[in-house]
Amino acid sequence: GEDPRLQAISQAIRVVPHFPKQGIMFQDITTLLLDHSAFKDVVDIFVDRYRDMDISVVAGVEARGFIFGSSIALGIGAKFVPLCKPGKLPGEVISEKYVLEYGTDCLEMHVGAVQHNERVIIIDDLVATGGTLSAAIILLERADAEVVECACVIGLSDLKVRSKLNGKPLYILVEPR
Ligand code: AMP
Repeated sequence: GEDPRLQAISQAIRVVPHFPKQGIMFQDITTLLLDHSAFKDVVDIFVDRYRDMDISVVAGVEARGFIFGSSIALGIGAKFVPLCKPGKLPGEVISEKYVLEYGTDCLEMHVGAVQHNERVIIIDDLVATGGTLSAAIILLERADAEVVECACVIGLSDLKVRSKLNGKPLYILVEPR
């Protein structure tokens, strides 16, 4: 059956209609972070899944992927690599642009943060279209890393998203409410 912790995790996420604009049902994980037991359960579930998979890098997507990603990295004994919005990283970077509903965005990673053939998981709070995670996968593969899986707290268990992720598995804890 389903992990009994998932219901409390789902309930700890606040849904804010029409934020940051009309029509969006914003999934607010800051309320999950206020609930120590739910936050710990999220991290424990990911740590239990990835601890014996020979993962040496956890890459987190700015900003909410940093919160979960760094905790998971500490839990499994991996390094943490931030994937940032443009202009945030001071060193030499590689960049990957991606298309949004309106306009484009970009993720950047420090050159030298991952070594060739390192096994990586990519973490964010939520997957919607999959555009952000796809860009993250491309960025890491350009650095010759091996992307093992992408993982999010929230996502639709929907095949359209999976097919967009360059054939990489996607692991999701709960669906949006
Ligand atoms: P996408 O690239 O379409 O998969 O969008 C995922 C990114 O946008 C993640 O970094 C999420 O944090 C953010 N995002 C998209 N939709 C929502 C939503 N409804 N609630 C909270 N964050 C969202």
